[in-house]
Order: sequence, then structure tokens, then C-alpha cells
Amino acid sequence: MKKSCKILALPGDGIGPEIMESALEVLKAVEKKYNVNFEIKEGLIGGAAIDETGNPLPEETLKLAKESDAVLLAAVGGEKWDNLPTDKRPEKGLLRIRKELDLFANLRPGKAYDALLDASPLKESLIKGVDLLVIRELTGGIYFGEPRGIEERNGEKVGFNTMVYSEHEVERIARLAFNVARNRRKKVTSVDKANVLEVSGLWREVVNKVWADYQDVELEHMYVDNAAMQLVRRPKDFDVIVTGNLFGDIISDEAGALTGSLGMLPSASLGEKYALYEPVHGSAPDIAGKGIANPVAMVLSAAMMLEHSCKLPEAARDIEKAVEKALNDGYRTGDIWQPGTKKVNTKEMTQAIIERL
Ligand code: NAD
Repeated sequence: MKKSCKILALPGDGIGPEIMESALEVLKAVEKKYNVNFEIKEGLIGGAAIDETGNPLPEETLKLAKESDAVLLAAVGGEKWDNLPTDKRPEKGLLRIRKELDLFANLRPGKAYDALLDASPLKESLIKGVDLLVIRELTGGIYFGEPRGIEERNGEKVGFNTMVYSEHEVERIARLAFNVARNRRKKVTSVDKANVLEVSGLWREVVNKVWADYQDVELEHMYVDNAAMQLVRRPKDFDVIVTGNLFGDIISDEAGALTGSLGMLPSASLGEKYALYEPVHGSAPDIAGKGIANPVAMVLSAAMMLEHSCKLPEAARDIEKAVEKALNDGYRTGDIWQPGTKKVNTKEMTQAIIERL
């Protein structure tokens, strides 16, 4: 029997539908090459959902998401909906679906492509060969900890938040990091602030405990201030970085900026039962409808989906290689174009990738 994978595609707004079309075409090519079957359904989210149903995340979309092996999302948002109250905005649909699916880990690869080294703010000798993955804890830490608030104390206002991590929260993300590292270069850097924060002390203790089951993987601990510095001084030394919500928010943006363009960065958000894959960038309203968006971040998000949810790691590697080949052969959308390379539109870039699959 053919291997099958159930996918819910959520094109969303702006360039979303254009780049989703690219990802779906690449998946069609994978179906042929690997003799697999993708059962793809489409749903509404964001502004497109507001226009049809008045709700940025209709119940029908959530139901379809929970019946799927993976959700593939393009982007939401745009000026048209900017004046709605906060809880009716397109972005609320995105926040809600992440929460409803209980996605506790966010994975963001940062890979330097030889063809795009000029786009990095770092010099070539530092950035060439960088291939790292930031795994950020997404549902705990200081963004959700109690108590939180602003109150009056001794005649002035005081604001406070609490960084909380329980053992099971650290354990599940550490385990994920070691498992992922096993399929990469087998090194995990756990980032914390254990010299100052008790919560980081516990984080470190639990990571060490989990490591006992993964002795084939190298583990190092690093304080977050040092990690921020080492990321720009010797980024090549990192493989998998695992960290909490706040530190991960900052470190993952730093890692993304190292390798250049927003149009190239995919992401995965994983939970115990569900998973969602989406580019890091937004709906790019300034270029929407022109057919010139860079489909690579979307296509690479689909590759992450094949690896983590559809259990087709070889197909994921093939897509990554095809993207790299297309770049090496000089194909560039406007956002990454340089003199001497071929400027192409979304469809042509997609075709260049598919031909190299
Ligand atoms: P953005 O990422 O949409 O765009 C920033 C800049 O990068 C723009 O100049 C855009 O043209 C360019 N860009 C982004 N992706 C590109 C691609 N694939 N190809 C070529 N160029 C690309 O961020 P923004 O302008 O701050 O936000 C626009 C809208 O997107 C807002 O409504 C915002 O709320 C929303 N947004 C959504 C998400 C999401 O869906 N995950 C994330 C961020 C922003």
C-alpha cells in the first residue's frame, strides 16, 4: 500500500496563496518520485477567513487541522484588517491555532547557502558552512508564567513576570532536541542563565538527566549572553541549540539574520500530537499579487513537514538539495537577486526547484 500523509493547507493572505501553490506543486513532484500519496485539504485562516466567516480561525479549520497529520500554513495579515479589534485580527487566528494544537517546540533552521553568502552581515569566512537549528520552547517560560501583572507598591507602579519551567516541560523539549540532533551532526547546545536564575538551574539538571539516554550525542551548556556572542563569532560550531521561550525568541531571530533573507527561512512548530509548518516571514502585502514572492521559505517548510510529520526524511533532503542547486545555478527571486544572476518570478523559481528534484 502507498504511504500516505494527511495535510491541511492554509494559504492565508497576501503572498500566502502564491507561495502555497509553489509548495503544493513541489509536493506533487515528491508524490511521483517517492510513490507516496498526500491527502491535501484546504482551509481558511486569517484575513481570508474573516472575509468569509467573520472569524480568523473558523471551527471548521481547527477540526480539519486536528484530523490531519500536519498543517502547512503560508502567512496571514494585511492592511485591510489592521483596524479590527485585536482579538478579531488575522494574527489572532495564527496565535489561536498554535495554542489549540499545543505546539510546545519551535524549530528554526539557519543554513548559509554558498550562493548567498554575500547576503549575510558576517564575513564569508565566518558564515560559510553554517548549518544550525534553534529549538525554542514555545508554551512555557516567562511569557506564560504566573504571577504576572502591574501593581501599586509603595506609591509607585511595579511590573512583574515570572519565568516558570516544570520538569516535564524541559524533559520533552530536551528529548526532542537530542532526537533531532541524532539525524544531524549529533551536538546539542543547551542555552540558559544558570549562573543567575534558579529556573535555569533546574533546566540544566533536567537536560543532563535526559542526556543519559543519548550518550552518542555531544552536549554543552552555555549562558545566553555567551551564546548570543558565540553565534556571531563562531556560528559554524553550533548544530542544535535548545532553549526556553524568551531566550529562544531572541536567539532564533539572531540566527535567522546571520544567514540573510527572510524569504529563505522555514520553521516547524511541534506538539505531542500535532504539528504546524510555516515560513518565518509574513504576508508581504507590498509584493502580494505580483507573482514575485520568494517561495523558498514555504517550500523548505514543506520539506520540514515531510521529515517530521510524514516520515519522509529522504524526500526532505532532496527538496533541500534541489533548492540549493537552483541557487547555485543562478536562479533568484527579487529579494535575493544580485547582478550576474537570473531574476525569476515565483513560478519560475518553483519550476527550477522541481526540475532539480
Ligand atoms: P513581512 O515578513 O510580511 O515582510 C517584510 C519584508 O520582507 C517586506 O518588504 C516583504 O516584501 C519582504 N518579504 C517577506 N517575505 C518575502 C518573500 N517570501 N519573498 C520576497 N520578499 C519577502 O513582515 P511585515 O511587513 O512586518 O508584515 C506584513 C503582514 O504580515 C502584517 O500584517 C503582519 O502582521 C503579518 N505577519 C504575519 C506573520 C505570519 O503569518 N506568520 C509573520 C509576520 C508578520
